[in-house]
Amino acid sequence: MRECFEIRTTDAGGRLGELTVPRANTTVETPALLPVINPHLDTIEPGRLGEDFGAEILITNAYIIHNSQDVREQALEDGLHDLLDFDGAIMTDSGSFQLSEYGDISVTTEEILEFQHAIGSDIGTPVDIPTPPDVSRERAETELETTQERLEAAEAVDTGDMLVNAPVQGSTYPDLRERAGRHADETDLDVFPVGAVVPLMNDYRYDDMVDVVAAAKRGLGADAPVHLFGAGHPMMFALATAIGCDLFDSAAYALYARDDRYLTVWGTRHLDDLTHLPCPCPICTSHDPDSLSALDDDARETALAEHNLHVSFAEIRRIKDAIRAGRLLELVEQRARSHPTMLDGYRALLDHAEQLERTDPISKGTFFYTSHESARRPEVLRHHRRLERLDVPDSVFLTEGDASSEDRYDASWRVLPPFGPFPRALSRTYPLAAEVPDRRDRAALEAAAAGIARLADANPDSAFTLGHRHWPASVLESVPGNVQCLDLTTDRPPR
Ligand SMILES: [Zn+2]
Repeated sequence: MRECFEIRTTDAGGRLGELTVPRANTTVETPALLPVINPHLDTIEPGRLGEDFGAEILITNAYIIHNSQDVREQALEDGLHDLLDFDGAIMTDSGSFQLSEYGDISVTTEEILEFQHAIGSDIGTPVDIPTPPDVSRERAETELETTQERLEAAEAVDTGDMLVNAPVQGSTYPDLRERAGRHADETDLDVFPVGAVVPLMNDYRYDDMVDVVAAAKRGLGADAPVHLFGAGHPMMFALATAIGCDLFDSAAYALYARDDRYLTVWGTRHLDDLTHLPCPCPICTSHDPDSLSALDDDARETALAEHNLHVSFAEIRRIKDAIRAGRLLELVEQRARSHPTMLDGYRALLDHAEQLERTDPISKGTFFYTSHESARRPEVLRHHRRLERLDVPDSVFLTEGDASSEDRYDASWRVLPPFGPFPRALSRTYPLAAEVPDRRDRAALEAAAAGIARLADANPDSAFTLGHRHWPASVLESVPGNVQCLDLTTDRPPR
């Protein structure tokens, strides 16, 4: 186990954990949101973040502090915690973002890490190369090599008990992300940001974001705390948590507020377009859109930033509760309905169901089938795999209806879409005690048929009869030929 990170509970790829930050003498519950503080702009005073919003950790930019003489001296003299008046944990970025924006920065990894240590940062960052999406493979590989050299340089710096980030790059090449993850995991660095995903999120490419994180996760050990660098919109926190991200940082709350944009968990609204404020936070219950619009620019920006942060922290709490209750994927399904690109993200997540299955608990609350994507959840995959290992008698009636009272079958198993068949004794176990809609969809029936095929193929010497409720011919086509099919709604039940 990595010393600074302990996983308490998992759900799909999501985890509830504790990040121990020795230098801050504190423990941060994850998933956690780190508000981004610009040392030059006080949209919301950092001192209020803990008390008013529940922030346990924030992130600020050591490079900006390094390059502005007055702040730099104050930071060196009093330390970051005094400078920002924040007694939680403080992570600092290194200037890699500035490097990606302006092409050049004036510090090395050694210098900036020593500086971060000197100003009292709790989690420091080397100067990695944030390679954007879609670049040539050659460039992605070359820049990844440089990033890896920087991580090795970072290992050699004496940073005391400051934790150090090991960013994972590799652009949009899954194999490079995986290799980068493995390399980072082999260093003795502590926290693993998946870098340069902001352009993907800005372009609503949530499916590509999921693929990139999933690849990085394959390289990283299961016990590695993972930070989705630059992910600040609450709409995608649940999705990113489900693929295995533990830390998020939000500059969005402040940046959006500056443009009069109002964050919600189902997207962004412009203040001018709102007739009501659909949120129970202190700002929204004490204002309406007109009174917000009437505020002067600074006051309006602060009020909107506060709302944006309240919404973001509320979503983090909702996610933690969902993980604890085993309902994270149900929450992701709800969020996936907020925008077609979010649905793409969820569908991409399910492409990795095999990977999620490894950390998905064997038993949780109740499986809710709430969309046809539910048919591709890790629980369905796991049940299908289990079907190959079950003891099967010589003749089995697989039925959506009641158990056959006849003794012409050795056993009568239930069929429940999307899972397919199982012995009745398992009916009350997870996930087979699922709540499924009466009006079944094609995806559920197809998944059930796939389960039947799996069972029949694994037991060629057994005789199977399927009693189904009017499955379409195209679904029945995927049921193997050695399974006799009987439509319970038209055919006579077996006697
Ligand atoms: Zn609000």
